[in-house]
Amino acid sequence: MSLLPPDRAHYFDGDRPVPQPAELRVDGDTLLINRVNGTPVAWPLFQIRQVPDAAAPTNVVLRWTGDPLARLILKDPSVLRHMPMLNRAAPPKGRGRLAAWAVAAVAAVAVQIGVLIPLLADNLAGFIPPEGERALGDATFGHIRAALDETGLSPLEICEDPAGQAVLERLAQRLTQGRDLPQEISVAVLDHEMINAFALPGGYVVLFRGLIDAAGGPDEVAAVLGHEIGHVVSRDPTRHALRSAGSIGVLGLLFGDFAGGAAVLVLTERLISASYSQGAETDADQFAHEVLAQAGISPGALGDMFENMRRKHGDSEGLAAHFLSHPSLGARIEAAQEAVDGTARYTASMSDADWAVLQDICS
Ligand SMILES: [Zn+2]
Repeated sequence: MSLLPPDRAHYFDGDRPVPQPAELRVDGDTLLINRVNGTPVAWPLFQIRQVPDAAAPTNVVLRWTGDPLARLILKDPSVLRHMPMLNRAAPPKGRGRLAAWAVAAVAAVAVQIGVLIPLLADNLAGFIPPEGERALGDATFGHIRAALDETGLSPLEICEDPAGQAVLERLAQRLTQGRDLPQEISVAVLDHEMINAFALPGGYVVLFRGLIDAAGGPDEVAAVLGHEIGHVVSRDPTRHALRSAGSIGVLGLLFGDFAGGAAVLVLTERLISASYSQGAETDADQFAHEVLAQAGISPGALGDMFENMRRKHGDSEGLAAHFLSHPSLGARIEAAQEAVDGTARYTASMSDADWAVLQDICS
């Protein structure tokens, strides 16, 4: 008899971070895991244990005592009644045995950090309502502002000159005109000399004053804005925040104290430096080329900005690593130059007067 159809159960072989849909059957004393693509796996029912899963309490995570790495994730707890020994601890049988279990425990945590959390975070990102995402963005923005403040007294200032803010909003509007965005974009400038920008959950795009100061002109700021809006559209920051928070939660279980101030710092550093995958960066660059061209601004501006950063920063340094890391800066500059249409008539992203106002947004 089939216990669960393949859309309710996923098997991880522990080698690759890929969930494999599987249909579950019970045959005598054995749980048969029939992978949709792959050979069936058999787990003796009395050797199946449940793994506590803080990241997604609604899921049931099972392991087999014979394989420290493999996991079975179920969306339906009704199957559990077939498994008699879910919460039994390992029998203590001398040192070798204990050492083996310690290795298995560490391996299991490694699987959680490397495999389960990214997967759950990615799935979870699809279920967070817009208000939740916005709240997550608000909270992380608060942490970042507090962490970046050097006086330790108050959060880092947001530059709120209304005229400058209006220029930024017009620019964001011009770049996103006619697009169906998953969230409204809110752009803020932080009063800090770092040459950087990042996106947060909930549609927040944050530029540092240092980036505006370093830009060779307004089009370069527009290009960075386009890139960050690209991250918002593909919801990279939300998945990233959930992953980081999830991993830190697991580290907290291991090291106890870790969940305090250190975790906030790690999370902050991760969100600002936002080491997205190479694919996510390439996609965001591509998105920037598109929205710039559509707004009549040269996509080459993104390449100019990268050149600028490379001149001022070297190939990779500090928190600006978001822009300076993989894929290689050279390739990204080239891609921006290739996106320029030789026959198009580009215009400036804003007037000289607006650019002056924007450069003054923090004073
Ligand atoms: Zn990026």
